[in-house]
Amino acid sequence: MPPATVITNSNPRILPWKLSAPATRGFLQRSHIRRTQPPTLMSSSLSSISVRSSSSLTQQPLRSSLAIISQLSCYCVKSLMLSLLVVRICRYAVLGAGFAGLSVAWHLLQHSPQELNVSIDIYDEDGIGGGASGVSGGLLHPYSPKVKLLWRGADCWRESLNLLTIAEAAMGSQELNSDSREFVQNSNGSIIRRRFKTDFIHFRGILRPAVSLKHLNLLNNNAQKCLDSCQIESIDGDAAQVLVPNLYAPLNSAFYMPEAINIHPQHYLKALFLACENLAKDLSTSGFKGKELHLHKMSINNLRELEGEYSAVIVCLGARAVFLPELSGKLPLRTCRGVIAHLQLPDDISEVYPDHSPSILSDAWLAVRGPRNLHLGSTWEWNSRNYSPDVPPDEASKALEELLPKASAIYPAIENWVFTGASAGLRAMPPLTPHGSLPLLGCLDDFVGGSHTCKYWLFGGLGSRGLLYHGWLGKLMAQAVLSCDEDLLPSELTDWRNKKKR
Ligand SMILES: Cc1cc2nc3c(=O)[nH]c(=O)nc-3n(C[C@H](O)[C@H](O)[C@H](O)COP(=O)(O)OP(=O)(O)OC[C@H]3O[C@@H](n4cnc5c(N)ncnc54)[C@H](O)[C@@H]3O)c2cc1C
Repeated sequence: MPPATVITNSNPRILPWKLSAPATRGFLQRSHIRRTQPPTLMSSSLSSISVRSSSSLTQQPLRSSLAIISQLSCYCVKSLMLSLLVVRICRYAVLGAGFAGLSVAWHLLQHSPQELNVSIDIYDEDGIGGGASGVSGGLLHPYSPKVKLLWRGADCWRESLNLLTIAEAAMGSQELNSDSREFVQNSNGSIIRRRFKTDFIHFRGILRPAVSLKHLNLLNNNAQKCLDSCQIESIDGDAAQVLVPNLYAPLNSAFYMPEAINIHPQHYLKALFLACENLAKDLSTSGFKGKELHLHKMSINNLRELEGEYSAVIVCLGARAVFLPELSGKLPLRTCRGVIAHLQLPDDISEVYPDHSPSILSDAWLAVRGPRNLHLGSTWEWNSRNYSPDVPPDEASKALEELLPKASAIYPAIENWVFTGASAGLRAMPPLTPHGSLPLLGCLDDFVGGSHTCKYWLFGGLGSRGLLYHGWLGKLMAQAVLSCDEDLLPSELTDWRNKKKR
């Protein structure tokens, strides 16, 4: 008789797929969702060894079941039962396919143990980038508007760049193009660095002109404490005009971040999703257990509908997390709608925005998309519940009225540009803490209530800096979920839960 193979879980913190009869309520009846049946052990003659449904199934019941099975004399029954037990699948639901959701999905795949079958379902009712991420300005740097390094800015900056590189590589593998690299000089002409001409990353830097005398000293002090990996050069008005012809620096002072980045968010998110798909395929064909990823374009109306389906559900719904019935009125988040105007330079104006000139950050920002295209943002409509990306004409003209004077104060040539359209998104703004406004992460089981059988998690409140936070925090979130251990998250990000308990 051939020996039975027993695979034990080398990571005792990872729960095996709960060994229960599948639930039959609403959610399961959606036939278009691919699902893997959980292993089920049910037999009247074997009732003494049937494994009961439990979300908190630890290694102990699994081990005792294996011990009982190994004593069975019938090989067929024994091997069938063992194979049912060892084909464990950890299924994760990631709600939302924005910066947060896709980062978590990527890191769940990346950090799941080799011996674990992992299946990830991403749900988004509008598809990839359907929320604020898809319409965002795409500006990425680790500083506050007063150029102060943000909380754990170095980690956030490093991990976001890492994800950009991963997404870029995924795109590159699709459209391999040897001409996609070139070399450019930085502002002082001394350092040559690599520049990519990819679809979605613009390594053009960001310029922050000083506009308030009151803040000038503070800006100067903050700039001196910049990261080596994202430097801030303090320059005068003339140098700023060399970088951006027609720029007006009212205080003859500006702060230049040559390494800061400006991305096309929709293209980036699509590339990141492609990277997730590639990673799942690569891991599955390189000796790892099966890793699966599925994107479902569908709406999630409440968290309880997912109960019994997943080892964990991670809520990455941006501002719309507060609309879920289980979370409504319970999260310390405020919503804030932002409108962005899309501007174009008419063909009869010959002086275009130079190819290597930085984007501009001021009371309004200019995210440059090309020599004749830029996005001007953004407005702040607090407590709005309107998450539609569409902007009706009256809202667009109101936004323009607000944004154009701010842009013109530092870039008067904006008057040559014409309005071509607008888009909008809803931010999830977290409260101010001593460390700044930090995203909210943590376990949501207390909020969902009932006898749910999976862990619910929140990765939300990315505010106006989702691009900066998504990389590192997505990684931490995935590690906490895989280990079922909230303590892996920095307390600064989970403190909001303690406040709720008090
Ligand atoms: C105008 C504007 C400009 C911005 N500019 C920048 C910038 O330049 N740089 C920067 O770093 N940040 C910027 N931000 C902030 C950034 O966009 C957010 O921090 C970030 O997008 C939040 O990401 P998220 O994944 O948490 O949420 P989202 O991107 O909103 O993703 C949530 C997803 O969940 C889906 N969803 C929601 N509800 C449901 C449901 N019930 N069922 C199924 N799916 C659902 C949505 O379709 C959406 O795709 C900007 C924001 C705005 C509004």
